[in-house]
Amino acid sequence: MTAHYAACSCEQLRLWAEGEPVRISVCHCLACQRRTGSAFGFQARFPAERVRVEGRCSEYVRISDAGEARNFHFCPDCGATVYYTAETQPELIAVPVGAFADPAFPAPRISVWESRQHPWVGLPEDVQHEHH
Ligand SMILES: [Zn+2]
Ligand SMILES: [Zn+2]
Repeated sequence: MTAHYAACSCEQLRLWAEGEPVRISVCHCLACQRRTGSAFGFQARFPAERVRVEGRCSEYVRISDAGEARNFHFCPDCGATVYYTAETQPELIAVPVGAFADPAFPAPRISVWESRQHPWVGLPEDVQHEHH
């Protein structure tokens, strides 16, 4: 199986995910905009048992609008988030797709929080819209 390699900006914190992601989504919510510094978050989720992490990380827990804890793991040196987990789905690990630095990474299949979408953002025509 192929391993997708992800890392923070300084590559101190590194991650390998085996096989294909089970979910690839974009999220337009304001919390994702703040976290990424971009117009939306773009993430791929893998089963936790297929993910291996090396390096030091710091954690930040944010409570979502639905009251669930999201635990962000980021490099203490450069600050880039390399993965995060949700307490309601401990079996999955989400990786910001930018951390793979791979323009050939598959497109998102699901789009979330479109009420907060920047109006110029274009998405694949067959993307599924998930409502909140
Ligand atoms: Zn780093
Ligand atoms: Zn979001």
